Amino acid sequence: MSDWSTMRALLAGIPALPGARCKGRSDLFERTVGEHRMTGRLTKTEVDDARREALRVCRVCPALMACRTWLDGLGVTRRPAGVVAGVVITAGGTPAKTATPATLPSSGAES
Ligand code: SF4
Repeated sequence: MSDWSTMRALLAGIPALPGARCKGRSDLFERTVGEHRMTGRLTKTEVDDARREALRVCRVCPALMACRTWLDGLGVTRRPAGVVAGVVITAGGTPAKTATPATLPSSGAES
């Protein structure tokens, strides 16, 4: 997202989300954005591993319901890409229905 007006409007609408487990983990959630693979910044395995880990973080997050409500209230053009509220949001703003910890391919690095 490069347009500052859009970014400011998006940030203004983010709820407080007490207990958010992603707080301080922007490095992980940033690595879940598929465009980083398309541009060669990350490999598919790195993106899949990050998504798997981030989805697990969301799954136990006490703010999950509030986060999902906020996400669902955004238009598809305003949704951030990557893992948000326990789903993988594509560049088009829609959930990638097949991207779950169970369906993402394992790199063999997890326990
Ligand atoms: S559900 Fe996920 S993205 Fe939403 S606040 Fe919790 S950890 Fe962050």
